[in-house]
Amino acid sequence: MSEIRAIRGMNDILPDATPAWQLLERTVAQLLDTYGYGEIRLPLVEKTALFSRSIGEVTDIVEKEMYSFEDRNGDSLSLRPEGTAGCVRAAIQHNLLGVPRRLWYAGPMFRYERPQKGRQRQFHQMGVEAFGIATPDIDAELILLCARLWRQLGIAGDVQLELNSIGSAAARQAYRQALVEYLSGHVDALDEDSRRRLDSNPLRILDSKHPATRELLGAAPSLQDYLDAESAEDFARLCGLLDAAGVAYTVNRRLVRGLDYYNKTVFEWVTTSLGAQGTVCAGGRYDGLVQQLGGKPTPAIGFAMGMERLVLLLQAAGACAQASAPEVYVLALGAAAEQAARVASEQLRDAAPALKITQHAGGGSFKSQMKKADKSGARVAIIFGEDEVAANSATLKPLRAGQDAGQRTVALQELPSALQALLP
Ligand code: ATP
Ligand code: MG
Repeated sequence: MSEIRAIRGMNDILPDATPAWQLLERTVAQLLDTYGYGEIRLPLVEKTALFSRSIGEVTDIVEKEMYSFEDRNGDSLSLRPEGTAGCVRAAIQHNLLGVPRRLWYAGPMFRYERPQKGRQRQFHQMGVEAFGIATPDIDAELILLCARLWRQLGIAGDVQLELNSIGSAAARQAYRQALVEYLSGHVDALDEDSRRRLDSNPLRILDSKHPATRELLGAAPSLQDYLDAESAEDFARLCGLLDAAGVAYTVNRRLVRGLDYYNKTVFEWVTTSLGAQGTVCAGGRYDGLVQQLGGKPTPAIGFAMGMERLVLLLQAAGACAQASAPEVYVLALGAAAEQAARVASEQLRDAAPALKITQHAGGGSFKSQMKKADKSGARVAIIFGEDEVAANSATLKPLRAGQDAGQRTVALQELPSALQALLP
């Protein structure tokens, strides 16, 4: 029969990679806990309208990247392409927004993109959202939290912070006119997507990755000249807070972010070590979104990190733990010994809950079991044969060079202490 393989862009994460993932997940969860953020777990599937209403109809995600389908009821549903929309939906639905609220989530997201290094169709994000705080001190908190995470992961030298303010909706409206005027004079040089967006959503063009369009944008009017006073003031305060905390950043006036719901602060952490997929974490303020999705007006800011890209950085930095070998491999010869070995292993786990024990399963000769013990990377084999069972004992055999103690047989009740002597 033909072999069924995974869907393109939806990757298996194999045991040799999971230690790096676990390190990342553990570090993030602990750090966010210390900053007072609570984890929220959200469905992978939502109504399609949630995403088109929040992310925006005229965006890459909604126009061409969503996995949407009709369920058996005829409702249009989509696999979530990002986490903010669902998080805001849940926060409104469960009345979480009466007070400032700090939340985080992690999990798979789905976008129909061209798979390449650091870009999948099922990928994972870890995201943070802070609701109910309009002042830029919370913007600074999110950025400081990221900076601390990079330090804890040992990748602080690999990522740089880019920062911008895209102002209020009104400021962007004024800027939009100027941008459209400028670009309308150069329609022939625009890529197809951008030409279409000139009418529907011209700010998205700033985000274009098309080289000719990017070049044209070099001489375009700057959003900065249209910024409202409040946004400019908040941005200056944010920069001051970051300066005081010693966080380096570059102000990138071309940074707009690919989603419609942002205003004021936007930021990205970028790296040059991953080729074209350089953004490892991106976010911004979205003060209008809660109301837009039916909640009371609530200022908010958040970011999402691409976990695949961070894992690639961790692996490149050699910072990730290896899948760890067992410390002990337990062998048994014959049915009676198998039973005694199983009971002894369980007692050993009671006595030393952190001990890594692999219990041989599947029978076989002494020689074949010893081969597996050796291959497992364990430092000590515990052997149960007929003699051991008869004498209520077990034989300890050091497996690695440099352990000078030889093989010896001990009474079962001495097993934990004898092992401890061999595994300092
Ligand atoms: P990009 O410009 O790389 O397509 P984006 O602006 O679409 O990114 P966001 O929606 O802001 O990305 O998502 C936040 C982060 O999630 C990105 O910075 C990136 O690290 C990660 N990410 C986004 N799409 C993918 C993907 N298809 N595969 C892997 N990671 C992704
Ligand atoms: Mg994208």
